[in-house]
Amino acid sequence: MTQVSLSTNKNFQFPEAEKLRLRLPTSLHRLADLAYNYWWSWHSEAVALFSTLDPIAWDRYAHNPVMLLESIGFDRLTQMTCDPQYMDNYDQVVRKFDTYLAGDRTWVKQNLSANLSPEHPIAYFCAEFGLHESLPVYSGGLGILAGDHLKSASDLGIPLVGVGLLYRQGYFRQRLNRSGWQEDYYVNAPFEQMPIERILQADGEGVTVEMRVRDRMVKAQVWRVRVGRIQLYLLDTDLQDNDPIDRWLTGHLYGGNQETRIAQEVLLGIGGVRALAALGIEPSVNHLNEGHAAFCLLEACRQEMLKTGKSFYDVEKTVRDKSVFTTHTPVPAGHDVFSADLMDSFFAHYWQGLDLSREQFLALGARRLGDPWEPFGMTVLALRISRAANGVSELHGEVSRKMWTVLYPGRSEEAVPIGYITNGVHAETWTAPLMADLYSTYLGKDWADRAYDPDLWKKIDDIPDAELWKRHQILKERLIAHTRSRVRASREARGEEWDVINSTGQLLDPKVLTIGFARRFSPYKRGDLLLRDAQRALNIFTHADRPVQIIFSGKAHPADEEGKRIIQRLMEWCRNHEIRDRVAFIEDYDIYTARKLVHGVDIWLNNPRRPLEASGTSGQKVCMNGGLNCSVLDGWWCEGYQADSNGVGLNGWAIGENANTSDTTLQDQIDSGSLYHLLESVITPVYYDRGSDGVPSGWVKMMKASLKTNCPAFNTHRMLMDYATQLYAPQSQAKVELSLAKV
Ligand SMILES: *Cc1c(COP(=O)(O)O)cnc(C)c1O
Repeated sequence: MTQVSLSTNKNFQFPEAEKLRLRLPTSLHRLADLAYNYWWSWHSEAVALFSTLDPIAWDRYAHNPVMLLESIGFDRLTQMTCDPQYMDNYDQVVRKFDTYLAGDRTWVKQNLSANLSPEHPIAYFCAEFGLHESLPVYSGGLGILAGDHLKSASDLGIPLVGVGLLYRQGYFRQRLNRSGWQEDYYVNAPFEQMPIERILQADGEGVTVEMRVRDRMVKAQVWRVRVGRIQLYLLDTDLQDNDPIDRWLTGHLYGGNQETRIAQEVLLGIGGVRALAALGIEPSVNHLNEGHAAFCLLEACRQEMLKTGKSFYDVEKTVRDKSVFTTHTPVPAGHDVFSADLMDSFFAHYWQGLDLSREQFLALGARRLGDPWEPFGMTVLALRISRAANGVSELHGEVSRKMWTVLYPGRSEEAVPIGYITNGVHAETWTAPLMADLYSTYLGKDWADRAYDPDLWKKIDDIPDAELWKRHQILKERLIAHTRSRVRASREARGEEWDVINSTGQLLDPKVLTIGFARRFSPYKRGDLLLRDAQRALNIFTHADRPVQIIFSGKAHPADEEGKRIIQRLMEWCRNHEIRDRVAFIEDYDIYTARKLVHGVDIWLNNPRRPLEASGTSGQKVCMNGGLNCSVLDGWWCEGYQADSNGVGLNGWAIGENANTSDTTLQDQIDSGSLYHLLESVITPVYYDRGSDGVPSGWVKMMKASLKTNCPAFNTHRMLMDYATQLYAPQSQAKVELSLAKV
């Protein structure tokens, strides 16, 4: 039992939780264990144990339970121990937590225990993990997916460990200035006060690994984050022993230049494998979640060579047989490549250790062989040395096969061995407690454990329309309140005129159809598509009987000038007096704002340039709460959307046509026209058609259809079961037959 024994293993110590425990009254000791295990974050009863201690401090500390407990006086804590209601909840949560950790009846135990053994867990490598707003080491979709992957793996009992980096300043923070231009800034994360634990050896020294980065040796220390039954190991180079420059190697997520990027990928891949070895963990499978971690394959080969004395080409097959790869982007520029020059300066010493020549080594990452200056591609390396590869939706699988046919000479596109497993979301994380409560009543208390079961979701029909609608309305009001307070704070910080700040009180109306649009402002996501015909949009938003309002949120990458201009256009639009109360932009998008948005919107809008959205997951979070998707048929929505024989949407709406065109102006024109038409003539009439009880029965029917059809398919329990049975279990022989090009 590698995973469990690590915490009781005498070789390692985890002093942080113990330190916190000593500050607490005896009868509340277990709050320290809860605080250091993100299990609490997807169990609302556990969240309440923290938030009720001091709701204001809870918000101030970004819902970080360690900071909260450290800030609360012993007096207040002992006061809580005299509250029978609180202590009752405490006992129940602790019991549930302990039962969970014991994990006696998990899905794996019942279905796959012969194939997946805790002795040799799956090692899941990813450059970012988005578990919760209190651990800001994520930027967006990839990270959230990785976080949800860990949570479902834990729930299902899949033996898995996560491997990633701990960034001192995480991803950049966003502030918009008075001209609507995005300003980027960074904030230090106080590791010592976060729910993460430094791993110490028996002698009290931290567990560290060393690797060469360019011409210096760099040390990284290893931290542990507990995610239910799963351990996530994060590496950080901010150590006194390191050169001051190297201490910043793990400073920023996706910041810096190509050199920082390759250095971080060396840390993640090579350092990650060394960290697992230092902890005594021998994985059965390496799962590379995106190409960033592909160097781990080289290090796994090197260690296998040391162990067996065999040559690189002999051990490569062994490593390939235990490695799987998930690719995440259909945008060619989204795949990391490093120049041969850069590879020389980082790897000249390393390929000698593999007993390879420069040509042989560089060929591992070359799309085309024979050109000594062909850049080194991380996706190429990952595809070469893995037994199976997948895209993240059916369409993305297809696009990926087309994109990488070049690696498989003599094969047709269809025969390229890249399959697909469509992404999902962790149901309990993304469902509002108010809705979860309804599902508990009507679907059963174990609804989240069985989120993959279509029969379970059929019982949605038992929920009275008025009850579903009422809860949705409450969540929408919460969202509006949250939006107003965030927008007001931004306006004050920007020093806006008094009249503008004051008007925030009228911003958004709970009775009006509310659209949410929140994601990275990459140009291909077309955040301003709605403004293509500004007058037509204005008419839609200010319609006398059937008005519409929208909430935007999202960041543009610091280097993305065009993305920043899109945000600026939206901000200008927000200032237009005619629609000032109908358009809002929430700064600094993060998991917390995402949660509020997906809980409360009526409609989630997604209009990327097809087929550039690999999957998308935010729309799936909206489904979990009864919201409806209005989206281009790209990524997951191609699989989720259902229409009747007349092409009328049953569980949401499709923008534009199911076509790929390379003429972007034409596509923008078709898609925006389609979006306007939907809003004017299809969506608003259903929304505003109310019965005598005020309930829009046609709308609620669609909410229920969406819940029934989308929820069982697009959750991470289903996704993890697919990964476990198709990719992780050793007899799964979805073979990548790509033979390694020997030079
Ligand atoms: C879910 C989520 C994403 C991913 O959204 P998509 O645009 O659908 O890929 C990004 N950021 C945050 C904060 C999220 O919660």
